[in-house]
Amino acid sequence: LVEARGLSKSYGDHEVLHGVDFTVRAGEVSCIIGPSGSGKSTFLRTINGLETVDGGSLIVDGEQVGYALEDGRYRPWRDRDFARFRARIGMVFQRFNLYAHLDAVENVAASLIHVKRVPKAEAHERAEFELARVGLADHVLKRPHQLSGGQQQRVAIARALAMDPDLMLFDEPTSALDPELVDEVLETMRALAGRGMTMIVVTHEIGFAREVADTLSFFDGGRVVEQGDPEQVLTDPANDRTRSFLERVR
Ligand code: ATP
Ligand code: MG
Repeated sequence: LVEARGLSKSYGDHEVLHGVDFTVRAGEVSCIIGPSGSGKSTFLRTINGLETVDGGSLIVDGEQVGYALEDGRYRPWRDRDFARFRARIGMVFQRFNLYAHLDAVENVAASLIHVKRVPKAEAHERAEFELARVGLADHVLKRPHQLSGGQQQRVAIARALAMDPDLMLFDEPTSALDPELVDEVLETMRALAGRGMTMIVVTHEIGFAREVADTLSFFDGGRVVEQGDPEQVLTDPANDRTRSFLERVR
């Protein structure tokens, strides 16, 4: 579903991704760990076109993201049929970015109404269904400030799922949460993985990665320095940098 080969990306003369190779098959959960500044967020953002790429190739859901022009430069997909493509990829950030003045149902229904042009009543029905699935059936009329951080993050997940994505991207979805709220969000993600959703999850939750991920990648300095079976990467990393990172986060 996602296939990156030699993906590179620079900001000015600062190269943030150096030839990233990365594959996720449909139905797989792929977790990414790595130190701050290693390019994890940038990589996720290239997948849904929030960032353009400078080199290499990236195929998402059968479509080439950025492709070589005659002069060797890569044209971003930004100016292609971008909204249609983006709707197939859900993204959940560290910060939930909910609309403060809308209740949970309205937050989840908003993109259905405004992007997919779903009639309001039908969008609200779908929103309630998605909220129930993330365990928020009793909270649908609350606004973000009336919800805990964990509940807000579950609203954000429901909002992404309402768009019926083929792929879900999570960028440190629990790292802004109080420790006691982390599990409810991880539980929601685990259930989603159990339903067969393809997911790429940047996380520091090693236990989650070990249990749920099909593959675990370690990013360092804009490269994937290790990718494989989570158990193997965690217990017997081939790379010294992975080893020292794991010693620090444990
Ligand atoms: P963290 O764990 O802290 O979230 P990360 O692995 O997600 O880190 P990125 O956010 O992808 O790292 O950033 C990788 C590098 O790119 C960093 O050196 C960062 O300063 C740089 N960078 C990210 N976004 C931009 C930008 N818009 N302009 C310039 N540099 C950027
Ligand atoms: Mg990041």
